[in-house]
Amino acid sequence: MMDFIQQELASLKTAGLLRELRTISKSKGSKVVINGREYINFCSNNYLGLADHPKVIEKSLEIIKEFGFGAGASRLISGNTIIHEELENRLAEYTKREAAIVFSTGYMANLGAITSLLDDNDTVIIDRLNHASIIDACRLSKAKLQVYPHKDMAALAKILIKSDKFKNRLIVTDRVFSMDGDIAPVLEIVQLAKEHKAMAMTDQAHAVGLEQNENIDIIMGTLSKTFGSLGGYIAGSQKLIDFLKNKARSFIYTTGLPPAACAAAIAALDVIKEDKSLVPKLRQNSDFLQKEINKLGLDTMDSETQIIPIMIGEADQTMTISKALFDKGIFISGIRPPTVPKGQSRLRISVSAAHTMEEMKCLVSSLQELTQK
Ligand SMILES: *Cc1c(COP(=O)(O)O)cnc(C)c1O
Repeated sequence: MMDFIQQELASLKTAGLLRELRTISKSKGSKVVINGREYINFCSNNYLGLADHPKVIEKSLEIIKEFGFGAGASRLISGNTIIHEELENRLAEYTKREAAIVFSTGYMANLGAITSLLDDNDTVIIDRLNHASIIDACRLSKAKLQVYPHKDMAALAKILIKSDKFKNRLIVTDRVFSMDGDIAPVLEIVQLAKEHKAMAMTDQAHAVGLEQNENIDIIMGTLSKTFGSLGGYIAGSQKLIDFLKNKARSFIYTTGLPPAACAAAIAALDVIKEDKSLVPKLRQNSDFLQKEINKLGLDTMDSETQIIPIMIGEADQTMTISKALFDKGIFISGIRPPTVPKGQSRLRISVSAAHTMEEMKCLVSSLQELTQK
């Protein structure tokens, strides 16, 4: 009866698409240990190196000692603490919005917001390259899903013009696209949303140090990347947040975040506020690597951020290069279908402010050696 499982695994393997976990036994700064060997990690979303920042560790330990680890219940039952509320206030301040609500993950934040805002009289209009959590949320909502080609504003405008039969229209876009590292044309999107009386929502999971645009109605973000913790959030008007507390099923029917995870995110927000060199350091590192990689004649697509893809094409070749880099002590994951379209497999570098010049030069010289072959 369950033969299909074996068959599917075998066909994934034949196609070079079988995914396997790598086991990290130690992690410190931009280094990880796997099978007893140390690697430079170029595929973590810990963009500012805050996951093991002393203040993040200290504050979360302090809160574990005070509250224990688990929240013990959903937020609306008995899982809501002053730490959750302090974090929500800090996120509202950070995003320059009236209020914010935290979810257990960014995935759940997208799920909760999109499914509770829309029903079958509505439409949700998204960029083709939006993150899987947005796509899943759209599928789970009863709204009609409409997709426009990547960053194609003329196509978005056309869809909006033809969508006046819907009661509510929601445009959703990644602010920084997670596999390409380019930035959404938020000004144009906000303008189109205004013209057509649609709502605009951005997913800021990978947006580090970008201006907050006050005309975005709904901001989604994660605590799991730049903030080095775990969790997701939605920020917006007080009414929006009150609505979500009542309607978002992924908020209501799940246990609240561990208070220590909230504390870690608060400490990360403190560090970002105090240390004004972190975001520029990330920018410098990203610019340096992109320039050096382009000098090797490699295609980094339209990357404008700390996410730097190197387009390879075929999945098996991508995995071969990823393995060869791994042999040289460099950890970069290969990205294959279904995460990216067929024929667009790539290496995907995530730069961190914690990367040293020496580590980046090591990456560049290894890439040079491998691509000259
Ligand atoms: C990672 C990511 C998410 C999900 O965030 P988690 O907190 O990891 O669940 C959502 N959107 C985008 C664009 C992401 O890259």
